[in-house]
Amino acid sequence: MRVSPCQASLGAAIGLNLLLLLVLYWRWPLRPVPPGSSCRPPRGAPGVTVLLREYEPLDNDVPGTARAFAPRHPVAVVTDAALYPPLPLPAGVTVLALRPAPERPPPLAQAERLVRTRHVALVPDGTRAAPGLLERMRAALEDGAGDARIAVAPVGTAPLRCLAVRLEAREWTVRYRHAPGAPGLCQAVEGSAVLLLRTRDLFALPFPLARPVTAALFIQAAFRGWRLRVLPAAFPLSRRLPLSPEAQWKARSGLETRRRRLMRELGIKREVLPDGRERWHGCGKDTARCFGTVHAGTPQYLLSGRWTPPCCLRALRETTRRVVSVLEASGIRYWLEGGSLLGAVRLRDIIPWDYDVDLGLYKEDVGKCRWLAAAAAGEAVEDEEGFLWEKAAEGEFYRVHYSRSNRLHVDLWPFYSRGGVMTKDTWLGHRQDVEFPERFLQPRVPLEFAGMTAMAPNSAREFLEFKFGAGAIENPEYPNPSVMRMGQE
Ligand code: ZN
Ligand code: MG
Repeated sequence: MRVSPCQASLGAAIGLNLLLLLVLYWRWPLRPVPPGSSCRPPRGAPGVTVLLREYEPLDNDVPGTARAFAPRHPVAVVTDAALYPPLPLPAGVTVLALRPAPERPPPLAQAERLVRTRHVALVPDGTRAAPGLLERMRAALEDGAGDARIAVAPVGTAPLRCLAVRLEAREWTVRYRHAPGAPGLCQAVEGSAVLLLRTRDLFALPFPLARPVTAALFIQAAFRGWRLRVLPAAFPLSRRLPLSPEAQWKARSGLETRRRRLMRELGIKREVLPDGRERWHGCGKDTARCFGTVHAGTPQYLLSGRWTPPCCLRALRETTRRVVSVLEASGIRYWLEGGSLLGAVRLRDIIPWDYDVDLGLYKEDVGKCRWLAAAAAGEAVEDEEGFLWEKAAEGEFYRVHYSRSNRLHVDLWPFYSRGGVMTKDTWLGHRQDVEFPERFLQPRVPLEFAGMTAMAPNSAREFLEFKFGAGAIENPEYPNPSVMRMGQE
């Protein structure tokens, strides 16, 4: 049969239109948009891609777990670098390496090419499939009741415990507590679980595939107000030989390392667990301080909308306790100065965004303390508790550091009386850094501060208003209002 050019172009036009219709149909499928989601249609094909992210590099069950879900579901093993040692994965299972490499496209761009289904399930190592359960999780997520963004089902026989999550970002803290009251809707769960969510939601997170998977997702979800819908039905856990004690230890310490790394990324320095125990992820005696050199009187954390990390406040309190007890034992006349006195009067503690503690002392008393005498002679000395006493490089004052490596410190300012006026030799140009009448120290009075009792000038209010100006106690202000004002963060 011969085809005329006219017939050919007509045929081409019809074909093109059909193709266009097909494309339109795929982009705007005729499905109801679930309530609670945006008006944008869900991307991707129906189905659930299984992501294996949480497993040990050596003693794992990744091939067995992959076989349990493939080929019914697309399965991808997510790894940091190339999967090593190599694993005998079933055909069709893909590997997604998250570490960027110059010769490859960005890893997450690859993830969106790899995960073509509308939903993903993050499945812990050793999980076995339960017929229809992933589909039921998807239905529970999309049925609209309760506006959940993550569906959760337990793995193994232990039931999940529902948790409420409270984020205190400014204080670098996350608090968990048991929340038995909310049937099926939680903010986090305790126990091994499969998490199912919309692919679009997962990859809209700043840390979509961070580990430990559950901790990473629950904290990011809590920041967004996402809820979890918990299903009672469980996935079976494969029966495997128990790990050797060495392998168990490796698994535990690996988890610990990953948790620390995650918390650093998320800016969490303290976790308060449901039973009241605390996990600290910030600085300690043998690490550096959490923040670098303070410029313009404003520590960097203030400019990221945060206050002093809790580990730093704790270290400052500890250093203050040490310094105050040494000064008292030596008979040195000292007193709370500047922002520290302001904190003591305002809330009996260090001001929650302050970065050091300031004490004044009588210069003539310095020789009474062996650590200060050594520091005055130009030698930095570590006392028997690991605090480092030294003369400040910046001028005529002393600094006691939390440790040699962690430079959180208490500043000691030597004053002397000149005709009834307290003065000193180094001035750093702060507003409160001025001479004052000696009568404020006659006598000194005890004041609650940071969990101890420390000495303070008498008439603290008058003293503070003399130094900082009227209303200083009632109107909190950041240390350098020209850089950052209270309430305008
Ligand atoms: Zn710290
Ligand atoms: Mg200060």
